[in-house]
Amino acid sequence: MFARSLNLNQPVSELKSIGPKNAARLKKLGITTVRHLLWHLPARYDDYSQTISIASLEVGSKVTVQGEVIKILTKRIFPRRLTIVDAIIQDSSGAVKAVWFNQPYIATAIPEGSVVSLAGKVNLDKRGVYLASPTYEKITGSDRQLRHTAGLIPVYPETAGITSKYLRFLIKPLLDDWVFEDPIPEKIRRRHGLMSLAAALKSIHYPTDADDIELAKQRLAFEDLILFQLKALLERRKVSQLSSGAMPFDAAYTKEIIASLPFTLTGDQKIAAWEILSDLARPYPMNRLLEGDVGSGKTVVAFLAAMQAARHNFQTVFMAPTEVLALQHFKTMNDLARPFGVAVALLTNSQALLNNRNETKASLKREISRGNPKIVIGTHAVIQKDVRFSSLGLVVVDEQHRFGIAQRSALIKSDRQSHIPHLLSMTATPIPRTLALTIFGDLDISLIREKPKYRQTIITQVVSDRDRKKTYQFIDDQINQGRQVFVICPRIQLGDPVTELIAKGQQSKLNLIWAEVKAVTQEYERLSKDIFPKRRIAMLHGKMKPNEKQSAMTEFKAGRCDILVSTSVIEVGVDVPNATIMLIEGADRFGLAQLHQFRGRVGRDQYQSHCFLFASGGQATARLTALVRYDDGFTLAEKDMAIRGPGEFFGLKQSGLPDLTMASLANLELIKKARLEARLILKDDPQLIKYPLLQERLAEFRRMTHFE
Ligand code: ADP
Ligand code: MG
Repeated sequence: MFARSLNLNQPVSELKSIGPKNAARLKKLGITTVRHLLWHLPARYDDYSQTISIASLEVGSKVTVQGEVIKILTKRIFPRRLTIVDAIIQDSSGAVKAVWFNQPYIATAIPEGSVVSLAGKVNLDKRGVYLASPTYEKITGSDRQLRHTAGLIPVYPETAGITSKYLRFLIKPLLDDWVFEDPIPEKIRRRHGLMSLAAALKSIHYPTDADDIELAKQRLAFEDLILFQLKALLERRKVSQLSSGAMPFDAAYTKEIIASLPFTLTGDQKIAAWEILSDLARPYPMNRLLEGDVGSGKTVVAFLAAMQAARHNFQTVFMAPTEVLALQHFKTMNDLARPFGVAVALLTNSQALLNNRNETKASLKREISRGNPKIVIGTHAVIQKDVRFSSLGLVVVDEQHRFGIAQRSALIKSDRQSHIPHLLSMTATPIPRTLALTIFGDLDISLIREKPKYRQTIITQVVSDRDRKKTYQFIDDQINQGRQVFVICPRIQLGDPVTELIAKGQQSKLNLIWAEVKAVTQEYERLSKDIFPKRRIAMLHGKMKPNEKQSAMTEFKAGRCDILVSTSVIEVGVDVPNATIMLIEGADRFGLAQLHQFRGRVGRDQYQSHCFLFASGGQATARLTALVRYDDGFTLAEKDMAIRGPGEFFGLKQSGLPDLTMASLANLELIKKARLEARLILKDDPQLIKYPLLQERLAEFRRMTHFE
């Protein structure tokens, strides 16, 4: 018979074997199409591949036996409301008993005379050897493939009403009766020794051995990796066809600015700046990510870019994640730009400044729309809402990976401007190389690995409660020497006594924030009254008004207070070089990246800095140990990805990508192959006209992986 090709996008509800009730249940597993069903991959396999004769059964082994049911009967044991089905199975070598509990229907399913295949464990009791609740199925014809016995048997993620047995019942015939057109052309498959799609699906559900599973996984992952690459390459091509303001490199001007800086740039800063300035000179949009560990000095690199834009009369908008950071950037850049006569503005919810002058928001917006301030710094919310630029040439986004073309276009509200601004996005969360090639393959990346020279390694320790007193003493000494201290309070989690107290059962996010406020307040009081009564202590939390937060930060920065007790709002970017102590309570409750961010708040000047980690369980977790051991954010990111897996690491769990694909995001070899092939495909056929199946998959893939 000629095998028919199955439409993978067909809803499962249209399959004959699935009724509305089960269709609804399958939906709970995320299965609505045939594709979902076939891509519902086994969580593990039961090894019943050993099919042996009954005479050679060994107690304790897991096996398949095949034979005729020569006797089967149901017993009821009334007091315990138990039913037992007892059967005797016979093959040419002998007979054995099989026993099932509370499944009386089995006696009708495999009546005496039927030929069956049973898979299960061989047990022994005082009456002899028997098979305990084996999986059973009838052998009805010689060509009939078995689904539940005699092989590596798939065990699937299940849900109420949907058992692995049912899933096998659905999936196996699809694999046997249909062919699947392969989106990956045979030429490519052969080049990399990849299975066909049909073979891979067969092998992943019903493998012959462990190697077979591995090869199947590779084939399935390869397809998704190709899609990642096609998407990235097409995105790049699209961007390169748009137009942006060209800002030719002015070497003399840039040199002058660099000479005016209070420090010399590191080698990596110079390289990154050069890459960025070269991009800006081109008439199509830059799409660049600047990665650099905390404290590596990204801001000044962005500043050089903004100055180049200003040189050519283009405005730069600089978006910060918080008001505190926006103000900090404003101060830095305003000071640096002033000697060059470049006007800098700050626009946040609570403040409007132009060159240090207070403005009303309305008048500042007017100035911006006239093109007066060349560098505008603000928070995302404020800038994106209702600011009109006169000639926006560059967008800088701090502490964010992505800011799409659509978001950039939305910043341009004037019809006088036809071009898309260049994008520089900056992050201290380094992207492991494999992800840079896949998920972020449409971005160019500049790296700052080198830290400013005099900077010292931060001494990091997990401190036990026993040494708490000693630690406080040490901190007190540091304050005597004029240094400053951050104290981070533990993240509040659902179920904490303090949350229950406040939330009274209705634990919403809002209540968690209030619980956090309470925790900070308590710590503040404890430190002020009991531990450091003579010290000046300030507090920072998410419920303070923006201007309150800012004044707390300003006070701390100016050295008018010794200790800042804070929730994680302190996390990103804050720069107080005189602070040398970072003390983190409940350190085990934070993620590795966040802890590293906290630690990066200190060690910003020539003083030796310390990071003290108190774990709420008193125990050092794998994460804390990694933090003590490595001070380089790139290494930590790789460890973190290894601990959590790429999906968790990059928050892709909700994206609907199969786990298999997630796992393959760590497979550099396979990624490189996929990248190569995607390049060749697009070179040969930029519109993918010869690859309709890939085109179709790509469209679907785009919907699924919209990360921005
Ligand atoms: P991040 O990369 O975390 O955003 P910043 O740009 O805030 O880092 O820089 C951290 C601190 O290092 C700032 O005080 C900045 O002035 C300083 N800095 C930047 N580059 C250098 C350098 N090359 N030498 C000395 N200090 C530098
Ligand atoms: Mg920064």
